[in-house]
Amino acid sequence: PLVLGIETSCDETGIGIVRGRTLLSNTIASSMAEHARYGGVVPEVAARAHLEALQPAIEAAVAEAGVELSDLDAVAVTSGPGLAGALMVGVGAAKSLAVALDKPLYAVNHLVGHIAADILTGDDVEYPTVALLVSGGHTSLLLVRDLVSDVEMLGETMDDAAGEAFDKIARILGLPYPGGPEIDRAAATGDPNAIRFPRGLSRASDMAAHRYDFSFSGLKTAVARWIEQREAAGEPVPVADVAASFREAVVDVLVTKALDACAQHGVPRLLLGGGVIANRRLREVALERAAAAGVAVRIPPLSLCTDNGAMIAALAAELIAGGAAPSTLAFGADSTLPVTEIQVRG
Ligand code: ATP
Ligand code: MG
Ligand code: FE
Repeated sequence: PLVLGIETSCDETGIGIVRGRTLLSNTIASSMAEHARYGGVVPEVAARAHLEALQPAIEAAVAEAGVELSDLDAVAVTSGPGLAGALMVGVGAAKSLAVALDKPLYAVNHLVGHIAADILTGDDVEYPTVALLVSGGHTSLLLVRDLVSDVEMLGETMDDAAGEAFDKIARILGLPYPGGPEIDRAAATGDPNAIRFPRGLSRASDMAAHRYDFSFSGLKTAVARWIEQREAAGEPVPVADVAASFREAVVDVLVTKALDACAQHGVPRLLLGGGVIANRRLREVALERAAAAGVAVRIPPLSLCTDNGAMIAALAAELIAGGAAPSTLAFGADSTLPVTEIQVRG
């Protein structure tokens, strides 16, 4: 089926068009720059930016795909989870479009969309797989037995998302937003073993209840305190070493828990998604340790790892191929939509 997907859960206005498992276009407009001076995504700013970006993004995606809106078999949209106001803009636009074109509408789960992105790489995708989604808004470890019917949340962050942690530490180090790429750069010349920062929820006492959950607030506090002590002693802060050691702590805990989940569930596959996958050390450590553990790692291209509309269209196309009925117009934006709700019927 020819499907147009609309994604507005955070700061990317994503419009993607797919024909079945084939990617035709993937237009992304980001309001990241507008949030830079606040050091993080401001919900109201994101929602207004979506309103302005949607129409031109739809036109661009349709033109690039070389199709007409009237050719579409369905419209798909992210219903949640994400920022309520931002989601509402996409949901409203999708409903209008579907009604105006008289096309079926599929409301889908953003996190499962991230997993569906992998289908568009053209390689054969196998399930079950463990999936690690790491971005500015989420840090989730999922067990995917079947993309359209069986996705289980193994664990998620109890406080900051991994990308958020990068952004906050960058701020402490005086580096600009978004902090991930800046820390990656600063860390390149640093020693990852210079400072031993804590790996959240990894102690034996935490593992019983939080084996697959993450926590980055303790790490953030530890880094801040370490820097303060340095400054109080009148010593210079070794930015490269702090960045490298911090990055190592985040990467270590992410990869350790993901591979633990693979072993525990007997699943020799790990899919990585989300904007933090751009991190060079994370890719390196994941590939290295997975190879040693006999786990096959899949990393889609970054344009499919960050928030985008194509992954939403791809998930809807799979639902349609599986015979799923469209959503009714009764669904809304659900900022806390659980991952088990792959499609929202309304
Ligand atoms: P969502 O959480 O809804 O998927 P988001 O916009 O918050 O959306 P992304 O756009 O996927 O997340 O990713 C942005 C985040 O990724 C930012 O927090 C940024 O700092 C982080 N990031 C980007 N590049 C890197 C990198 N090289 N290393 C670490 N973090 C990175
Ligand atoms: Mg983003
Ligand atoms: Fe996302």
